[in-house]
Amino acid sequence: MSLRDVLGQPRAVDALRSALEKRQVHHAWLFMGPEGVGKELAGVALAQALVCPEQPFEGCGVCAACARVGKRSHPDVTWVMPEAEQVERGLAGRSDFTNTPSRDIRIEQIRKLQERLAFRALEAPHKVALLVSAHAMNANAQNALLKTLEEPPRDTVLVLISSAPDKLLPTIRSRCTRAHFGPLPEALIASELKARAKKDLDDALAAQVAAMSSGSLARALSFNPAALARRREQIEAFEQLRADDASGWLALAEAWAGDRETAEAALEVLRVWFHDVAVSQVGGDRLVNADLRELALEAGARVSPARLQRRAGLVDEAKNAITARNGQVRLQLERMFVEMFAA
Ligand SMILES: [Zn+2]
Repeated sequence: MSLRDVLGQPRAVDALRSALEKRQVHHAWLFMGPEGVGKELAGVALAQALVCPEQPFEGCGVCAACARVGKRSHPDVTWVMPEAEQVERGLAGRSDFTNTPSRDIRIEQIRKLQERLAFRALEAPHKVALLVSAHAMNANAQNALLKTLEEPPRDTVLVLISSAPDKLLPTIRSRCTRAHFGPLPEALIASELKARAKKDLDDALAAQVAAMSSGSLARALSFNPAALARRREQIEAFEQLRADDASGWLALAEAWAGDRETAEAALEVLRVWFHDVAVSQVGGDRLVNADLRELALEAGARVSPARLQRRAGLVDEAKNAITARNGQVRLQLERMFVEMFAA
């Protein structure tokens, strides 16, 4: 891959390309923006541009050096991320760590990085460090990194990648050149989904998933079609419930109470749904369940904003009760419906 493959981020890509073309790449960058929109991909592309012998300051994306950057095995490109994230991504096993894998980037990791950066590059003209989830650096780690940002080793480029840059010290942020990554356009996400789908994904479903993904390709890729279909059924079943028909809600409580996970998932669907209904009540059109716009309008006309808010509160209560007390799922769901409709 190369910077050309970072889609839908013209602002950030232009800034990087312009720095590369001028051969004036700042020693510290902060790639900021939501999860799953291409920040890390851009970090890889920048690293390739800086180590590629075939197309210096561009990156060919295919030579041995570029390929090793992509596989995280280039000796001059160092990756830093929380241990827990390494485990979640399958880059390390739980047993690789003596203690529970940390969610923080710890000072030891920054010291190790600094030791590495103190040496000359082994193969390439530059050394690159990619700090994934840089905001996970704890205070000690951030203070340690500050020294490197203030007195950068020669030919070194650090890239801090973060979806929560507010958690970084202002002194760190101010020493970095910022590249802003925004949510991806829905049309781009839909076409990427279709391009990557192993089975056939029809246009309507691809557009629906794109609408629900808040501009994050990673989130879009994590949706599963079966869960989407279930979501629709759950919402429709809820909206068919009537205050004068207790057997209806008891049956739905029974259906959702099959196991705890089903109940929790259904309650999450309801929570988001009530949010959509509230949005449609004030004339908004950015619904998460964009395919159920009509139903949201109908539902919004049937229930007052105050009652809707109360229902949302009841969903949270039921969810907390089920999660915390680990049992009585059906009872909690029945209670929730009774209070929604009978009280
Ligand atoms: Zn190359």
